[in-house]
Amino acid sequence: MEQRTEISSLGEFGLIDHLTKNIEFQNASSILGVGDDAAVIDHYGKQTVITTDMLVEGVHFDLMYTPLKHLGYKSIVVNLSDIYAMNAHPTQVTMSIAVSNKFSVEALDEFYDGVYAACEKYGVDLVGGDTCTSRGGFVISVTALGEVVPEQFVKRSTAQKGDLICVSGFLGGSFLGLTLLEREKKIWLENPQIQPDLENEDYIVGRLLKPEARRDIIAFFTDKEIKPTAMMDISDGLSSDILHICTQSGLGCMLYEEKIPIHEDARQAAFKFGLDPTACALSGGEDYELLFTLPQSEYDKLVLNEQISVIGYMTEAEAGSHILTKGGNKFKITAQGWNAFKEQ
Ligand code: ADP
Ligand code: MG
Repeated sequence: MEQRTEISSLGEFGLIDHLTKNIEFQNASSILGVGDDAAVIDHYGKQTVITTDMLVEGVHFDLMYTPLKHLGYKSIVVNLSDIYAMNAHPTQVTMSIAVSNKFSVEALDEFYDGVYAACEKYGVDLVGGDTCTSRGGFVISVTALGEVVPEQFVKRSTAQKGDLICVSGFLGGSFLGLTLLEREKKIWLENPQIQPDLENEDYIVGRLLKPEARRDIIAFFTDKEIKPTAMMDISDGLSSDILHICTQSGLGCMLYEEKIPIHEDARQAAFKFGLDPTACALSGGEDYELLFTLPQSEYDKLVLNEQISVIGYMTEAEAGSHILTKGGNKFKITAQGWNAFKEQ
């Protein structure tokens, strides 16, 4: 049998020490980390961005099909994605957890393996956190800090009329991964003898369980001296998120269905489930791609990067927010995406 160490055998301080004892800083700005009342960070004249996100068992994740290592990785990555979405570079994170005694030390080690894997991959330091007991599910709260050259941060509210609307990577995959895992879970609960059928579904399952943040896109901007006029990461789905940029910038938009990037594996999965791939891209969430706007004069720089798709342009507010389908119909974009697809 696998070893099971009770959290109570270490005690709170023993557990914190166990989980954090191997930390080695990767950033000169990390002055003081775990072990004191607070961490100390020096940003040397850069501006600091800060973001925080909670993940709650049963609301944001299901431990029946979420490996703890992936959960640790994802809980860091989703916060780093918010830092990149400000055109900033993440430098430090804190990790706070509420755990029940259902968890062993070994289970938390697995979770932290994922946490440290993400920290290493993205070059951020874990500098603190909090640990407490939960009478219910597992609760994770991560705060991330990042640095940005003064005044180079990018908001949601500064898109300009006529700007190109761009998106990185592919959309909709994560929602299809969730649909698949929820379906297999239901089948399994009804008949535990049936093993889950996840064959050929690595892509969509990976998009849900092990998302990545788009550091490469921010590096590309720096390299090509591009500064988006507005930017955010896509966590709720393209339609809901583009509406944030429209509303906050006081503008409208026109999107083209045929330009929305959807991975071939996601398209196949959508057809298998009887779903419209575009609807999955518009309304599914958790893609953690970047959505940004740029002046048309920057178009020539964009074509160099095949990870970036131009999917539409910003219009004046009076024109509303629409999507032109492959069939040539114009629909109003709503936060729910396609549910409320009503012809205009
Ligand atoms: P305090 O009583 O000041 O809140 P704690 O005993 O909660 O201090 O934490 C001691 C140190 O360990 C602090 O530096 C805190 O940031 C860090 N820490 C606590 N829990 C975690 C955790 N789950 N992961 C990483 N660091 C943690
Ligand atoms: Mg504490």
